[in-house]
Amino acid sequence: ENLAEDLDALARELDADHVFHSWSAQSQRSTLVVASGRGTRVWDHAGREYLDFSSQLVNVNIGHQHPAVVQAIREQAELLTTVAPSTVNLARGEAAKRIVGHAPPGFDKVFFTNGGADAIENAIRMARLHSGRDKILSTYRSYHGNTGAAIVATGDWRRIPNEFARSHVHFFGPYLYRSEFWATTPEEESERALQHLRHVIEFEGPSSIAAILLESIPGTAGILVPPPGYLAGVRELADRHGILLILDEVMAGFGRTGRWFAFDGYDVRPDLIAFAKGVNSGYIPVGGVLISDPVAATFEDRVFPGGLTYSGHPLAMASIVAALDAMASEGIVDHAREIGETAIGPGLAGLAERHAVIGEVRGEGVFWAMELVADRETREPLPAAAMARLKSALVARGLLPFVVDNRIHVVPPCVVTEEEVAEAMTIYDGVLGTALEGEG
Ligand code: PLP
Repeated sequence: ENLAEDLDALARELDADHVFHSWSAQSQRSTLVVASGRGTRVWDHAGREYLDFSSQLVNVNIGHQHPAVVQAIREQAELLTTVAPSTVNLARGEAAKRIVGHAPPGFDKVFFTNGGADAIENAIRMARLHSGRDKILSTYRSYHGNTGAAIVATGDWRRIPNEFARSHVHFFGPYLYRSEFWATTPEEESERALQHLRHVIEFEGPSSIAAILLESIPGTAGILVPPPGYLAGVRELADRHGILLILDEVMAGFGRTGRWFAFDGYDVRPDLIAFAKGVNSGYIPVGGVLISDPVAATFEDRVFPGGLTYSGHPLAMASIVAALDAMASEGIVDHAREIGETAIGPGLAGLAERHAVIGEVRGEGVFWAMELVADRETREPLPAAAMARLKSALVARGLLPFVVDNRIHVVPPCVVTEEEVAEAMTIYDGVLGTALEGEG
């Protein structure tokens, strides 16, 4: 046992001395050690257990250490661990076939990348080359990744210190709880957000716009489920002006919403689909772009000027095949939908009844957010200091939360059980009741 505690201490020491962390001032890094996992739970070396209601970065859809995926990686490693992207490889073809199998008709090709950001990067490149236009439109409330065009496409604060690229325009998407459009119903929000987008397109010059890039359901920005008619309306605007529609399914795709793709729930067909995270639950880094036939045809006789050493990496490909097969045969996507309807949704609604600090809960499947407010009337966001206190209290009680701004995102793996949801609800309930005493 002492040895195990020593390992945790060693992990923390090495991290503090030598690891440079993302998106943080280095003096403020986390000290939480994760050494192993299974399903919805993870442990440090000493055996302290946590319920993972973050799915790490909302990517471990199939749960930690799914045996079939681990086994597939092991078998592929014995056969061939790496190969050049220009070669033909069976695992790559099988992975692409699985992904195409979940897409609507008219999507037959997949370009593989190392993760989500470069999927966006390449989707933007394809849209620009296919359309011969330059501008990309995306929303302020979005996150699309941390590389050149993807970080500029991102709307949140992370864009601003990185903003040196060309031809990018942001607009406001629908968000009824904090409407930019003085809307009071989902229908109004949808209609007015579309009018706003129509004006942005007209004032930017429709013939200069290559693509509109949208997360089907903005994730990090707050799980902003689009109101009725919005995505279909965007499609219509894009069609009217020969603009492509790129849907970012990196976080929302592959089971998170209880559907294979989040946009399956809406009357919309994109031209390009970016994916990553849930496609193999991050067991090996991978992402990609699903390409519709007309865009793919552009590059039939014309060189596609993009590529990556690890595009279609065999270990990633084997993990995709195993993960998607297991998700299908074990009914994991249906389970995500059901657990959202029967346990997470009702659980969060119950919390909102008991705690005035919850301004709104929204979501579906295993993709939910609780938006916390200092005042239900004014909807003033709960201050950062209180959010930080909530976050530590949740971790102290054994729950790994996903906290962004004034929200707790409730995003466990798709395989989370009813008992685990009940356990998590008890922890949220306790923490909202005690950690915020004297506030809200
Ligand atoms: N797009 C969306 C919607 C995301 O949520 C993310 C990551 O959180 C990305 C793109 C970037 O993916 P990655 O971090 O794999 O580059």
